[in-house]
Amino acid sequence: MTTASLPDVHPLLKEFLARKVHKLLIDGKPVDAASGKTFETVNPATGEALGAVAAGDAADVDAAVAAARKALEGPWGKMTPAEREKVLHKVADLLEARAEAFAQLDTLDNGKPIREAKSGDLPLSVALFRYYGGWPTKITGDTTPVSVPYYPGAKFLQYTVREPIGVVGAIIPWNFPLLMAAERLAPILACGNTVVLKPAEQTPLSALWLGELLLEAGVPAGVVNVVPGLGPTAGAAIAKHMGIDKVTFTGSTEVGREIVKASAGNMKRVTMELGGKSPNIIFADADMEAAARGIFAGIFYNQGQTCSAGSRVFIERPAYDKLVAAVADRAGKIKQGNGLDPKIAMGPLVSKEQRDRVLSLVEKGKSEGAKLLAGGAAQPGAGWFIQPTVFGDVKDDMTIAREEIFGPVVCLFPFDSVDEVIDRANSTDYGLVAAVWTKDIKKAHLAANRLKAGVVWINCYQFVDAAAPWGGVKQSGYGREKGPYAIENYTSVKSVWVDLN
Ligand code: NAP
Ligand code: MG
Repeated sequence: MTTASLPDVHPLLKEFLARKVHKLLIDGKPVDAASGKTFETVNPATGEALGAVAAGDAADVDAAVAAARKALEGPWGKMTPAEREKVLHKVADLLEARAEAFAQLDTLDNGKPIREAKSGDLPLSVALFRYYGGWPTKITGDTTPVSVPYYPGAKFLQYTVREPIGVVGAIIPWNFPLLMAAERLAPILACGNTVVLKPAEQTPLSALWLGELLLEAGVPAGVVNVVPGLGPTAGAAIAKHMGIDKVTFTGSTEVGREIVKASAGNMKRVTMELGGKSPNIIFADADMEAAARGIFAGIFYNQGQTCSAGSRVFIERPAYDKLVAAVADRAGKIKQGNGLDPKIAMGPLVSKEQRDRVLSLVEKGKSEGAKLLAGGAAQPGAGWFIQPTVFGDVKDDMTIAREEIFGPVVCLFPFDSVDEVIDRANSTDYGLVAAVWTKDIKKAHLAANRLKAGVVWINCYQFVDAAAPWGGVKQSGYGREKGPYAIENYTSVKSVWVDLN
């Protein structure tokens, strides 16, 4: 842990953080919660309060939905696709110009290392606005050569139009606060929708600041409403709201299930990005140095708080002992501390609650007989730090092998054959991502074919792009974010028939 003096934050951020209360953003204006309530958001590296935030609930969600509905019909709905593109490109430019300040804000609110915020969260958020900034003029329909069996010889012009769905509710988690907001807002806006966004209670600040930046870029008032608040109040109000046409959710499978149930009231559409327990499979013929880096990227990026964490690492037996020793040795050398320090590779977990949850799973690992090879404890002192933790010789039925840990805890397993490892990799309720490391291209593609996951990486890990689809199978959810797939998520197809007879 380092205690080196930390860099001062960006002047724009200083000004933002000096606000007494970070208000809700509804209809283009900062407003207090109707209840007058606020909650504190905290810097997890120090445990100190960062600011007070208005706590939105059902009444504020009602106001936000009304503003979003009105905005659909207002200047936003009247903008040409080319005008919408211009606005989205302006968002990308402004965000890029303020990348340093936004990166610092997410580091302060979430704890993540600034080097990750600057190399990952920020450029990806900008790229999402640029990528989707190109879409509005390219969202087209089809003409279909129809044959109507009960009207032989009849002629019709039949065409389709992709229209905005309407008001979208977006409920996002705390692990990539700005990036999750950008990943939702960019395609939602590209398709001409309006939105009520609820950031996670642990990390509400960058979404609120982004909301203001959108207004500055020319997104009309009411198009993007940001309502921080608690899950069971603000989140649940969005899930069941009769005026919301679609909900996009990223978070736990458990909450996802609640949201699906609540969505039934008005048959709103839902897409779900949920948890994972992803396999990272290393064959003995792999480039071991690259595989070791892949194991690290898989499990220690963002303190292991990624839905795509490579938390189950299967290593072919001839390579097992050596790779396990290398992983355990390197884990002990990771530089942990306040993420604002650019030398830091691992920050704290997002909250005390999350730290304690991870520690209790680590204890389960120990008591159920897994071999602790590195870490396994909280770091003493302020902040919610946990040591990078490596368990070897884990058995498939142990709790740590089955439950999503969402922290820097990796389970290593030896394996002996392709069939065995594919079966074991697939025997989980989840199916978000998987990775395979081998120099044998046939083996790699056959494994990719057999792995039940929404994303498979071959000889790499944790690669994402605005243009490439993202999402899972099984209890990791359904629907795809990013790429052209998100355009389908946020549009509705209308079929038009013209009688030419
Ligand atoms: P969570 O409880 O599912 O929270 C995600 C979001 O849902 C937050 O905005 C949360 O609000 C809100 N929420 C909570 N209860 C709700 C309810 N009853 N109705 C509507 N919204 C509700 O997730 P978490 O416990 O904060 O995060 C940890 C877990 O999330 C992980 O273990 C992992 O499984 C999952 N996760 C998955 C991904 C992914 O990309 N697939 C990403 C991040 C996290 P509050 O902020 O008030 O809780
Ligand atoms: Mg916080």
